[in-house]
Amino acid sequence: MTSIATLGSHCALQVLKGAKDEGLKTILVCEKKREGLYRRFGFIDEFILVDSFMEVLEQKCNSILEKNNAVFIPHGTLIAQMSSEQIESIKIPIFGNKLILRWESNRNMKEKLMKEAQLKLPETISSPKDINKLVIAKRHGAAGGKGYFLATSEEDYRKKRDKLIEQGLIKGDSDLYLQEYIMGVLAYLQYFYSPLKEELEFFGVDKRHESDIEGLARISSPQQMEMNNIPSFNVIANSPLVLRESLLNDVYLFGENFVKASKKLVPPGMNGPFCIEGVYDADAKFTTFEFSARIVAGTNIFMDGSPYTSLLFNEPMSMGKRIAREIKEADSQNKLDKVVT
Ligand code: AMP
Repeated sequence: MTSIATLGSHCALQVLKGAKDEGLKTILVCEKKREGLYRRFGFIDEFILVDSFMEVLEQKCNSILEKNNAVFIPHGTLIAQMSSEQIESIKIPIFGNKLILRWESNRNMKEKLMKEAQLKLPETISSPKDINKLVIAKRHGAAGGKGYFLATSEEDYRKKRDKLIEQGLIKGDSDLYLQEYIMGVLAYLQYFYSPLKEELEFFGVDKRHESDIEGLARISSPQQMEMNNIPSFNVIANSPLVLRESLLNDVYLFGENFVKASKKLVPPGMNGPFCIEGVYDADAKFTTFEFSARIVAGTNIFMDGSPYTSLLFNEPMSMGKRIAREIKEADSQNKLDKVVT
């Protein structure tokens, strides 16, 4: 029988609870320092204790997973801690398309895929010299918003960049890229594409609470002017959103175009969970600044389902449970190769 394995972080609780509810064996690759936390939860059947998540690449860990017919569920921690080469070298089957994770981590590939999906993107500013409006300086990879900053001019940019270098967060300009800052309502659109049913499901929307940019709104502008720190965009928590119903048609269109584009550029395409991340402006037009080609932590809000999953399923459905169900169905139809890479 197939079992479900993941790294102990990010959305592991949701993923393994969902797998257990679907009757599958659950395995956690757990750093020793976090064992106490995860032992609190009765739905984790087996622990593989490690000093570092890198041990997933080693034979010892691999053979335990192989023996259990494990399917590995990738999430943000895997992307943040391993290179694309390392992820692609994992021997056990990975749910979804492991090749698309490279497109999430690489800035140019990411833009190419978003353009192919006809998503509207923020303008890229190719050099600090060209800053003539509010821009956001972002770090490459899944930095989670840490060390991002806003700038309105080249001088402003250099001052803040130098401060981050001093703090050891970046080495220089090449660690940053510049994007037009889009003002509006941020929304993180969560989807699941079923390769078995060849159908897109819209799962939910969340917003992120980011420190300390969020705290700025609580401080009056004269006091802000006297402060000398660079507010960052470090994600601390998520909360749910529902969209105006008139926006939903476009939400499905974004997701379907993304699936179509990924089938063309990264076969077998965007299978399983993914997220399109952006901003609704004053005209309710959506600009996409990012995508995640795997489950996002914002789905943790909906462990008992979201307003949108309750329209699609007559039972509470989390993203973790949906993943497990797809694996279970694929297994029973002898089509596991359709849902893993
Ligand atoms: P990212 O790493 O692209 O997910 O960005 C982290 C955070 O930075 C987001 O959650 C937003 O709060 C903010 N952000 C990123 N890009 C933009 C943008 N172009 N306009 C406005 N806010 C942005």
